[in-house]
Amino acid sequence: MSNIVIVGGGAGGLELAVKLGRFCRKSSVKVVLIDKNRTHIWKPLLHEVAAGSLDADIDGVDYLAISQKNGFHFQLGEFRNLDRAAKTVTLAPLLDAKGDMVLDERSVSYAKLIFALGSVTNDFGTSGAGEHCIFLDSVKSAQSFHVQLLNEFLKLESNDNTQQLDIAIVGAGATGVELSAELFKTAELLNAYGYNKVSSSRLNVTLIEAGPRLLPALPDRIAQNVASELRELGVNIMLDTAVSGVEKGGLKTKQGAFIPSTMSVWAAGIKAPAFLANLDGLESNKINQLVVTDTLQCTKDDAIYAIGDCAHCVMPNGDKVPPRAQSAHQMASCLFDNIKRESKGKSPKAYRYVDYGSLVSLSSYSTIGSLMGNLTRGSVFIEGRLARIVYISLYRMHQLVIFGKLKTLLFMIANRINRRIRPNLKLH
Ligand SMILES: Cc1cc2nc3c(=O)[nH]c(=O)nc-3n(C[C@H](O)[C@H](O)[C@H](O)COP(=O)(O)OP(=O)(O)OC[C@H]3O[C@@H](n4cnc5c(N)ncnc54)[C@H](O)[C@@H]3O)c2cc1C
Repeated sequence: MSNIVIVGGGAGGLELAVKLGRFCRKSSVKVVLIDKNRTHIWKPLLHEVAAGSLDADIDGVDYLAISQKNGFHFQLGEFRNLDRAAKTVTLAPLLDAKGDMVLDERSVSYAKLIFALGSVTNDFGTSGAGEHCIFLDSVKSAQSFHVQLLNEFLKLESNDNTQQLDIAIVGAGATGVELSAELFKTAELLNAYGYNKVSSSRLNVTLIEAGPRLLPALPDRIAQNVASELRELGVNIMLDTAVSGVEKGGLKTKQGAFIPSTMSVWAAGIKAPAFLANLDGLESNKINQLVVTDTLQCTKDDAIYAIGDCAHCVMPNGDKVPPRAQSAHQMASCLFDNIKRESKGKSPKAYRYVDYGSLVSLSSYSTIGSLMGNLTRGSVFIEGRLARIVYISLYRMHQLVIFGKLKTLLFMIANRINRRIRPNLKLH
């Protein structure tokens, strides 16, 4: 039996596993998904987990359950190594919380291998960042940020002074911008839940950006509108400010300033996991992404593919496909179509990235963005309720692929019910 092995079950990998699992169900091809976690959370929701507006324990998708329903096999484990000659991947030993062995090191053989491992935060080697900053790149770190945030608000509530909680966010891309707004919502909700001394005025959020404006990857009009909304909320925006070091209690800038911070978040860049650099002779770029052709095959081995944030894929105009959920979604669809084509003896089609626009959600305060496409003939600026619906639809598209129409509808209903019967904020 030939194996198609997907390493990483995130925005791209899980969608591909579901599609391939259904397609190969009745064939001799075995589809295997490997992930180091037992549950999946769609990564663009992590800032909501951090702020407490989303509970990862409720919204997490169980890989084992979804694999059984969709005809693929799930292997819990952390990727350790690749042997291209033997066509195997090795998974690290699985240990329990006490460090005792659950499963020994294992090998999984493949006929086709797809890396969909995503990315991690890139602190560009800034001194102290790894030690003193929170990186919002995993559910675990988002949850630990949330607990720390609740503790800091608890301190504010029990102190008689009028001290503020200083939070510094490095990087004014979508993650930094969206998190800033979510924090104000958290303070507002905690106040409504009885923390009388906690309010937006006790929150001192500083958003630091090395470039001349917010949201460098998005159109200027969106950046301008987002900046004025954030300023209205009370966010201090520092542009043209590069952070040179982080220490307990604050950040130093290259210009010599010190920004006090009780909680520091680094959201300024991404890189692929370090182990992908020079992995058994595969070509990688400076940020460890695997270099792929337009059919998403690794340049040095056409049995190995990379999709999503861990892939370096260049568009015909020479630009790199951006590390975004819509890219991972589109790459998963393209690769699925190509594997299907191959099974019918047809040649693969080239992947073409289509930018459908970008939306930024400032919690429930506002959603701002632009839509692109044939219908809009270029870029159209949108905001408000329509923008909110389009923003949510990206997540709904992901849910549609992995759950199908009926279950996605049931999730939407359950979501509405949960909003009525559960607190609007994760309070623990
Ligand atoms: C806070 C935040 C907000 C964002 N907002 C947006 C947005 O609004 N719009 C947008 O388009 N994009 C957004 N993004 C970017 C988007 O989340 C990513 O581009 C997208 O998730 C990439 O998909 P992927 O499949 O490549 O990787 P991921 O979705 O990150 O999945 C990678 C998977 O690999 C697994 N994995 C990692 N290492 C190993 C290992 N060693 N062994 C086994 N498994 C492993 C992980 O557990 C994970 O399941 C946001 C990102 C963040 C962090």
